[in-house]
Amino acid sequence: MTLTRQDCLALDARDPLANVRERFILPDDITYLDGNSLGALPKSVGPRLRQAVEQEWARGLIRSWNEAGWYRAPQRVGAKIAKLIGAADDEVIVMDSTSVDLLKVLTAALRMRPGRTKILGVSGDFPTDSYIASGVAEFANVGFVRATPETLIDEIDDDVAIVVLTHVNYRSGFVHDMRALNAAAHAKGALIAWDLSHSAGVMPVGIAAGADFAVGCGYKYLNGGPGAPAYSFAAKQHQAAIEHPLTGWLGHADPFAFAPNYEPAQGMDKLLTGTPPILSLLALDAALDAFDGVDMAQAYAKVQSLTYLFIALADERLMRHGFTLASPRDKTRRGAQVSLAHEEGYAIMQTLIARGLIGDFRAPNIVRFGFAPLYTRHVEVYEAAALIDGVMATRAWDTDDFKARKAGT
Ligand SMILES: *Cc1c(COP(=O)(O)O)cnc(C)c1O
Repeated sequence: MTLTRQDCLALDARDPLANVRERFILPDDITYLDGNSLGALPKSVGPRLRQAVEQEWARGLIRSWNEAGWYRAPQRVGAKIAKLIGAADDEVIVMDSTSVDLLKVLTAALRMRPGRTKILGVSGDFPTDSYIASGVAEFANVGFVRATPETLIDEIDDDVAIVVLTHVNYRSGFVHDMRALNAAAHAKGALIAWDLSHSAGVMPVGIAAGADFAVGCGYKYLNGGPGAPAYSFAAKQHQAAIEHPLTGWLGHADPFAFAPNYEPAQGMDKLLTGTPPILSLLALDAALDAFDGVDMAQAYAKVQSLTYLFIALADERLMRHGFTLASPRDKTRRGAQVSLAHEEGYAIMQTLIARGLIGDFRAPNIVRFGFAPLYTRHVEVYEAAALIDGVMATRAWDTDDFKARKAGT
């Protein structure tokens, strides 16, 4: 049975999240399937930043740290993210970048498992996570070992201090079974840390089901804007034991005592290091209002519907052009993206972007499409597939311009 544009309009008409798109500014002439790299702009952000700059900064000046609530913004925004991932309000704090947050979490975990000699990751995870894990391992004089997805559970042994995994793989969209892996790590006395960069905001993460630590990115599905700060989660029962080396003044028990020696704050506050980027933090704060009233189970149901539709259309119209599916067919193992492999992927994506369909390319051969549930419509998925079909049929990608590599992809 062939899927029609009409079918897709009917799916949009039944979509309980259809009106959430109105909370975003999206250009009319663009189909945006790249919310997994940089989320779209929520309408609430511009006015909030204007207020922050023109009122709180310009007029309030330094008083705004207290009077405009800047000082507690890392905790306040953390509590908003906590709701999306199923954590308690005081288990999440916003600060720094995902990379830096991961460094703090991994060093804390190593301290909590003295005598253990390994950090265990998995091959194919997002590079920064592996780079940070190997940097921490070298510094702490332990090993960083990468399992394959198939050998992962078997490689968790008594020497592993912490397992570090990306919940949803950035390249394929594969979703790990978080609950099962938490249990497998704990069975060997290891801790486990999750990178939620590609899962928070698109599915019910269920972080309370035994995860010890987590980190995640603010500018993808959370729509915090370019360079938005990241967040860290630590389960309540671990917070007292956390020690990390980035002991800056804002993580001190009493920063404004200006005491000569460091003494950690309570709870998640001790993970803070230096002064947060307040404007970016307030942008993220406002952006998270786009999730008001959005149930994560409903968001994930929509993700599954959008990705299923794209795969069905790809089977119908795209595979004959030499694409292969690089994402799981099983909807319970798939995040909010669908990746297709094609040896001319780079030039194909450049062509699509030139024609208003924005996805992205991941070397060596993956074209990746993200289906952010808050603002993507089924009819856009239909139009995207039709456009790709046309570009392939006419070989529009086959020019020197589209094949020439740019710096940022
Ligand atoms: C995007 C992403 C990051 C980003 O790291 P930053 O340090 O915030 O730039 C980290 N991990 C994963 C899995 C990502 O997808």
